Amino acid sequence: MSSKTINLEELSNILDGELYFDQLHKTIYATDASVYRKIPLGVVYPKNEGDLKKIIHFATKNNITLIPRTAGTSLAGQCVGEGLIVDVSKHFTKILAFDEHQKTVTVQPGIIRDELNIFLKPYGLFFGPNTSTSNRCMIGGMVGNNSSGTTSIKYGVTRDKVMELKTILSDGSEVIFNEINTTEFHQKRKGSALENKIYQTVFNELSIEENQHEILKEFPKKEIHRRNNGYAVDALLNFELFGGTKNTVNLATLLTGSEGTLAFTTEITIQLNDLPPAKNMMVVAHFNSIQESMEAVVIAMKHNLYTCELMDKTVLDCTKNNREQLKNRFFVEGDPKALLMLEICTDSDDESNKRADALIEDLKKNNMGYFFPK
Ligand SMILES: Cc1cc2nc3c(=O)[nH]c(=O)nc-3n(C[C@H](O)[C@H](O)[C@H](O)COP(=O)(O)OP(=O)(O)OC[C@H]3O[C@@H](n4cnc5c(N)ncnc54)[C@H](O)[C@@H]3O)c2cc1C
Repeated sequence: MSSKTINLEELSNILDGELYFDQLHKTIYATDASVYRKIPLGVVYPKNEGDLKKIIHFATKNNITLIPRTAGTSLAGQCVGEGLIVDVSKHFTKILAFDEHQKTVTVQPGIIRDELNIFLKPYGLFFGPNTSTSNRCMIGGMVGNNSSGTTSIKYGVTRDKVMELKTILSDGSEVIFNEINTTEFHQKRKGSALENKIYQTVFNELSIEENQHEILKEFPKKEIHRRNNGYAVDALLNFELFGGTKNTVNLATLLTGSEGTLAFTTEITIQLNDLPPAKNMMVVAHFNSIQESMEAVVIAMKHNLYTCELMDKTVLDCTKNNREQLKNRFFVEGDPKALLMLEICTDSDDESNKRADALIEDLKKNNMGYFFPK
């Protein structure tokens, strides 16, 4: 596959958006935040859904791959490939609908996570999942990666929040995935459209008991919530047709975390949360070993935490000789092998202080940690 044999001008001429296949653009887009590098065929900034359909048809006709991309902060090469990079961070940046009462918002994939939360703040709401890259990563990419972060122990991961995805499938058809009941599921299986085939395939594979057992046996435990490994077929098994007890299912669950490999997302409806209580306090417990810090998590988690994040010696050492970060080490005592950042939130400073003290007391009682600034 090379841009010489594929007539990208032909695609460029029919788009409202822009398509580049010069060396500079291709080099810039050859990587994301990972160590991987592949020179793509070109980079396209679709302007609207019509453009996306044209791009998909062009890709099918020329047998090339498409790599959806928002901020490109992925760490495992999700946005790296030899096909066409489809960057929606430029033109798909709108908030389309907001329902304060239902606490939902519908956005295009290119809206930045923190910017969405700035919009939501006056309403006392926010989108919970919080990656370290939240000031630049975008909701489309968060859905693609099923992103999670510091707040996920309290507010869940992106998959828990996605209510509906409007998508374009590989044949150019527009399909909405949202919560449906058993009757609707059977209805969607009827027909020969690609959407129907998707429901048929999911039904054929997941209604087989042997497959259900195999998935339950081989997938990580449900309690390991912050993970993204393979298609989340295990998350569909709570549906009554697949051996579970729930009478509804939502295939957006499966699309979330599918890293842009199943469909192109154009609209995302997410469930929001009330902002956490305003008075927060961080306890930074110091440990002499990683093992000890891990064991301390079990105790700490009983204290209704809003954040529980580990920082190990490798990361801490990076800050030792870094002029910019040196000032941020003011709370570090000695040479800890690990720190746990444990956040408590309540409605009053006094209450947060009391809860922080109770947490510290509990850790000390269990001989966990040696220093506990707050
Ligand atoms: C320093 C650093 C810290 C990080 N910390 C965290 C963290 O705490 N938690 C965490 O979960 N991740 C973390 N990440 C990884 C990454 O930042 C997040 O997963 C982020 O949410 C990705 O968003 P993005 O906009 O950059 O997506 P991208 O990297 O652009 O894309 C992510 C995936 O989504 C797909 N995609 C994008 N748009 C669409 C679309 N419209 N339709 C279909 N598929 C689409 C892409 O193809 C890709 O597979 C970190 C990365 C870095 C560099």
